[in-house]
Formats: sequence, structure tokens, C-alpha cells
Amino acid sequence: MERQPSPSDVNDDKWAFVAPYLTLMTEEAPQRAHPLREVFHGLRWIVRAGAAGRMRPHDLPPWHTVYQQSQRGLKVGVFATLVHDLRAVLRLGQGRNAELSGALFDSRTLQSPPESGTRAGDEGTKRRRGSKVPRAVDALGPLWAVHVTAADAAKDQKRLMSPTLARIAYMIEALAAKIRDIKDFPKQGIVFKDITPLLGDPQAFNMTINLLADRYIGRHIDRVVGVEARGFILGAALAYKLNAGLILVRKPGKLPAETLKAAYELEYGVDTLEVHCDALVPGSQVVLVDDVIATGGTICAAIDLVQKMQCEIVEVAFLIELSALAGRKRLQGYNVFSLLQY
Ligand code: AMP
Repeated sequence: MERQPSPSDVNDDKWAFVAPYLTLMTEEAPQRAHPLREVFHGLRWIVRAGAAGRMRPHDLPPWHTVYQQSQRGLKVGVFATLVHDLRAVLRLGQGRNAELSGALFDSRTLQSPPESGTRAGDEGTKRRRGSKVPRAVDALGPLWAVHVTAADAAKDQKRLMSPTLARIAYMIEALAAKIRDIKDFPKQGIVFKDITPLLGDPQAFNMTINLLADRYIGRHIDRVVGVEARGFILGAALAYKLNAGLILVRKPGKLPAETLKAAYELEYGVDTLEVHCDALVPGSQVVLVDDVIATGGTICAAIDLVQKMQCEIVEVAFLIELSALAGRKRLQGYNVFSLLQY
């Protein structure tokens, strides 16, 4: 019989986010008698209802199953990781850095009953025995960290000050799902990485630019150099985000004023890239951007042009790196970053 839905159930979108974290538990998990989503709903019911597991509606999985699964998750830090990542997603969605740079701190003492014995510490100033609960709240509102200690150990705030780095695995996975492989395009044997679904998706495009910008915010970037054509799309959004100018590196014959040229090898023959002679001021700090690095020939030519203008290359960034083609090897001596590797 179908279970009656509960307001504490998660919808499909939320479950899609949560499920990969919970399935991390499979190694230790015994044979499942209840679907993982139902067990999670059991836990949600307890948390949201604030009632004991034994009082749950009886069409949810048994309380001991929910308890055991939750304990296993707590032990390996599943929930903490989930909250870290969710916070990073929320922050990036708001156009902020994934990592927070400031938090609001607060702490309170929970008085303990006499039965707590040595577990309770002394809160000297308030003359109470109990636990100290320091909390840090992200400027956006979500709880960042909570740490419960015996009151006398509460001065050790260091643990609270060193949060594990918010992982971005979930976002990267979401972006990878928006890249479409087109076989034999533009010619036989090539698997073309089509980024148009990613560009067309508001969240994915937003996340891509935020993840890239996150690397350079706070470092002074004068110009972003975009390589024709898809490098223009990413480059323009990134430059806007960084308050930097955008410089176009184009195919031959497209730029109207006097240009510098750099040749690069194609599979058959050579091609050229151009940039306006006066596009960059010597000494400018630049980031170069393209959608894909394959053999690295294209970006090497773009680097050549930027170097002719005596600029400082802070980093060379790509949305996608085709690792098997080892383009990165040709960029030794430069900082190279790619969001997705294949
Ligand atoms: P390469 O010079 O070999 O590193 O090639 C990089 C340039 O070619 C980039 O500007 C990409 O837009 C394009 N490119 C190369 N291979 C692919 C691919 N498999 N899918 C999409 N674009 C590609």
C-alpha cells in the first residue's frame, strides 16, 4: 500500500541532491529492507516533528532502522558534508564566494541536570554547570557550524574556526550533466563537447561563472582574454563579474584595427589567431579563458599574443579539459585550471 505523503518528505529535486551523499554509506550498510529515501523520510519526520522515533506514523520504516542508518551517517560525516555543500551552492547562487569570509558568532550555556555528572563543565562566570554551545551563522542565514562542549572547554574556539573546506563536488557533477557529447562532429572520430545546454541553463551558467570568478575575486585582474568563439561567452561573463575588461583573441581577418598574429598547428596545416596591437597595456594582470583545452595549440597561440604584450598571466582557465590529449603539458610554467576533466 502506498504511504500517505507527509509534509516532512522531500520532493524529487531535494532527494536528487541528498541521495548521492547517503549512498556513500553502502560499504557498511547491511542488506536494505527499506528504500533509502523512506529511511531518510523517517529521519526527517523525527527532526521536523521533534518527537521520539517510536511515535512515528507506522507506515514509515521502523525507528531502529532510521536510528542505525542515521548513526552510520553521522559517524562518517555525511550530514556535515551535505550541509557544507548545500551552503556552498546557496552562496554561489547568491553570487558570493563558496567559502564564507565572515560569520556571526554566538554562544550559550545549556544548564545540565545533576545526573549529567562529569559530562557537564563549569561555566565560571554564570555559576552554572552545563554544556557550552558556540554557534556560527553564515551572513546569509544558514547555520554554519555548531559545536557542543563541556562548558569549561568552551574557550577552545579553534575547532570552530577551522571549518573543512566546502566541497564543490555536487556542483561539478551538476555542470557535467549539462555537457552534451556529440559524436563525429564537426568530423568523423571527434566527440564534440557541446556546452550549449549548460549555457542555456540559468543555474548551471551562473554556477560556472561563479566557480571561475571565485578563483580570482580579491586578486587584481585587469583583463580577461577570451578566445574565439566560445571563450568570448565565458570570458565576457567572467570579466563582468571581476570588474575587468574583456580582450578578444580572434580568427584571422575579423579584427578591424592593426593586429598582432600568432600561428598554431592544426591536425592538418596551420591557423592563426589575432589580437589588436593596442588591446593590452604591458604589465596588465590577465586571465585567459576558453571553453575547451584539447591539444593546447589554440591556447598556446593566445598565450603567445599576451606575452608579446608583456602582460602577466595569472591563470589560464577552461570549462573543460580533455586530459587524454595532454594539452596541459604544453602550458608548463603557467597556472592552469579546468572545472571539468574528461
Ligand atoms: P586545442 O587547440 O586542440 O586545444 O583545441 C581547443 C579549441 O578547439 C577550443 O577553442 C575548443 O573550442 C575547440 N575544441 C577542441 N576539441 C573540442 C571538442 N572535443 N569539443 C568541443 N570543442 C573542442
